[in-house]
Amino acid sequence: MDANAKLHNGVTMPTIALGGFSVSDEETGPTVRTAIDAGYRAVDTAPPYGNEAAFGRAIAANIADGVVSRADLFVITKLWNAEHDYDRALRAYDQSLRTLGLDYVDLYLIHWPIPAQDKYVDAWKALVALHDDQRVRAVGVSNFTVAHLRRLIDETGIVPTVNQVELTLALQQPELRAFHAEHGIVTQAYSPLGQGGSLSDPVLGEIAAKHGRSPAQVALRWHLQVGNTVIPRSTKPDHIAANIDLFGFELDTADLTRLAGLDAGTRTGPDPDEFNYAEPLG
Ligand code: NDP
Repeated sequence: MDANAKLHNGVTMPTIALGGFSVSDEETGPTVRTAIDAGYRAVDTAPPYGNEAAFGRAIAANIADGVVSRADLFVITKLWNAEHDYDRALRAYDQSLRTLGLDYVDLYLIHWPIPAQDKYVDAWKALVALHDDQRVRAVGVSNFTVAHLRRLIDETGIVPTVNQVELTLALQQPELRAFHAEHGIVTQAYSPLGQGGSLSDPVLGEIAAKHGRSPAQVALRWHLQVGNTVIPRSTKPDHIAANIDLFGFELDTADLTRLAGLDAGTRTGPDPDEFNYAEPLG
């Protein structure tokens, strides 16, 4: 079990990143500082979260205070759905850099495929160009199914380094993870705690009690042991610390078998085959 994953282009990415969805401007500064103090070196944001600027300020403050250097941090942001044209995608990346106050991000992802728009291959070509020009350390996708991934690979020959997808104990996505493994794509699990909703499951509770850990820690440890990287989100200092304190215990085969049985194929978020919201951000 490693604190870092190696992407297929050689870049190293922390296996645990701090989730940024719905973290308010006021919360972002203290949350990022607490996370860095607890050992996090990666953060995940996106234009629709409305907090790229707040994350940028928090990163700048930690660097200015000598807590961490830019090179030690791994910053993830995403291309919004209204920007899938090649040129718009290039401009959207520049806009994210300006908003974040950074001169590069570590991982830039196509946020959603938006099948009705059918432009994600153009968007992917723009991200590949940004990587070729060494303006971003790695490029990948989010919410892509096997069919979307196959099409990108068939039409461009370039494999995304990462696919950030909904993955929980209730939605284990074995076929998608097998495709990732076959093609060297790192699986990044979003909503890895099911947005908190699945933590009261009795099986999870029993396994947590057996290891003297919390249900959230068992869920996150399960992700790491099956080969996922994770983006847990919390603004509570004790949860932030617990969510990265995953390396001092190990789930055994019996635990893993029981946890595999929780896969119900149920989503918390939208189905990427049906999600087509692509309005410009206000
Ligand atoms: P998570 O699965 O990370 O769950 C967050 C919830 O779990 C919060 O309510 C939090 O509450 C609670 N929680 C966190 N840690 C603990 C703990 N140790 N014990 C008990 N409760 C806990 O949900 P998200 O949907 O936010 O997913 C994580 C991240 O994934 C997002 O923030 C975002 O960065 C990314 N994401 C990406 C998407 C995409 O389309 N690419 C879509 C959705 C998410 P509290 O604050 O009280 O701890």
